[in-house]
Amino acid sequence: MARQTETDKKKRKNCSLCADKVESIDYKDAAKLKRYLTEAGKIIPRRITGNCAAHQRMIAKAIKRAREASIISYVFD
Ligand SMILES: [Zn+2]
Repeated sequence: MARQTETDKKKRKNCSLCADKVESIDYKDAAKLKRYLTEAGKIIPRRITGNCAAHQRMIAKAIKRAREASIISYVFD
C-alpha cells in the first residue's frame, strides 16, 4: 500500500537553497542562518524545511561555526 498523501506530492523538492543556486553558506550571515533555527536555537530538521541533504549539511556546518564565533547564540530565550 503506497502511503503517498497530498502533502507528500506538494513538498517534494523545495530546497530553497537549490532554488537560489547557493553553493556555499556564509556563517557570518546570521539573518540567513536564523531562518533554519527554531525559536529555541535548534537546527530545523530537513523534513520540515524541505532542504536537500547537501544543503542541510552546509547549513548545519555554518550554524555550528557561527555559534563558535558567537555570531548566533546556542540558546535563545
Ligand atoms: Zn539544496
